[in-house]
Amino acid sequence: MNALELDGVRKDYGSVPAVAALDLRLDEGEVLALVGPSGCGKSTLLRLIAGLEEPDAGTVQIGGRTVAGGGVWYPPERRDVGIVFQDHALFPHLTVAANVAFGLTELSGAERKSRVTEALAMISMERLAERYPHELSGGEQQRVALTRALAPRPELLLLDEPFSNLDRHLRAQIRADTMDLLRKTGTAAVFVTHDQAEALAIGDRVAVMRAGRIEQLGAPEPVFHTPANRFVATFMGDADFLPAELTGDTLVTEAGSVRAPDDVVGRADALEVMVRPHEVVLRPADNGTAGTARVVDTEFQGGFILHTITLESGRRLRSLQPHTTHYPIGTRLHAELSYGHPPAVLPDHDAIATNGHPAARW
Ligand code: ADP
Repeated sequence: MNALELDGVRKDYGSVPAVAALDLRLDEGEVLALVGPSGCGKSTLLRLIAGLEEPDAGTVQIGGRTVAGGGVWYPPERRDVGIVFQDHALFPHLTVAANVAFGLTELSGAERKSRVTEALAMISMERLAERYPHELSGGEQQRVALTRALAPRPELLLLDEPFSNLDRHLRAQIRADTMDLLRKTGTAAVFVTHDQAEALAIGDRVAVMRAGRIEQLGAPEPVFHTPANRFVATFMGDADFLPAELTGDTLVTEAGSVRAPDDVVGRADALEVMVRPHEVVLRPADNGTAGTARVVDTEFQGGFILHTITLESGRRLRSLQPHTTHYPIGTRLHAELSYGHPPAVLPDHDAIATNGHPAARW
């Protein structure tokens, strides 16, 4: 049984499809990170699943039960979902314990009490049970909101940018606690974020959305290393692109040759490889041989120094070096691609843009 199944779900606002004919399946206990730029439809999708919006087409199933579409409509409180928003929205006039007990109306008094105790123990907050929300820090409030959403043991938890109001350090801590709690309780979750690093860190799978559609859905590693198109490539991390000539099973680029992935061998169209800054090795020019690349910019990033170099053709690449390696601007050196995995190969963007199908594969 799927924790969640969306079939052809669509939501239009005026003439703009906020969510366009979208299919999605989530296994039980699976955590999906939904990531994309602002306005791509993440919140709308979450609201459609929660029952805060009605789809214009398609069906929503939660735990094998249709909750929207085909003439069926279940309101949010009957969908077996928990929701955590950015502004935790605790009831200010209720204590922590009463907030957590709020959704447990179907339990008897004694059961409710023990469920609340158990839930608060999971996040080590028993001692704060009688406090009011205004007596808690932001991080504590968010922990309570999470516990309140999980206490009824929902089939599915929906999280909409739940940590964006927290500072970086606290955010990492609460994120880890949240993931721990989801794993312990075996709860499936859809986690909305606009932060690609967060999506890669937490998702069993990552769905990258743009303009109401899912552009790529997969485990974090393939989404990062072999993005389906340029949009995903550049949204999920820094990316440069180099034209590559296919010779047999080898891709020859200006910065060296790499083995072509099997599904690329034999292709006849113009290609380029995606290069992330940590995949560019820099070597000082050997004695007597001038390097073909030149450093044109450096940026201190704490533990790393980002070098921007130009190749002989004038193309730019970025190369991430440990802070102990700093080549000053103007240094001539050799640049080489070094992938720990098959490279992402995309249609050559310039070729696409000039053959009448501008950005067709973006
Ligand atoms: P995200 O969460 O990715 O930032 P949203 O789901 O909030 O994106 O929005 C998707 C699109 O739908 C945007 O173009 C937004 O302007 C539009 N939109 C969202 N909610 C409404 C609404 N209630 N009325 C009209 N347009 C909306």
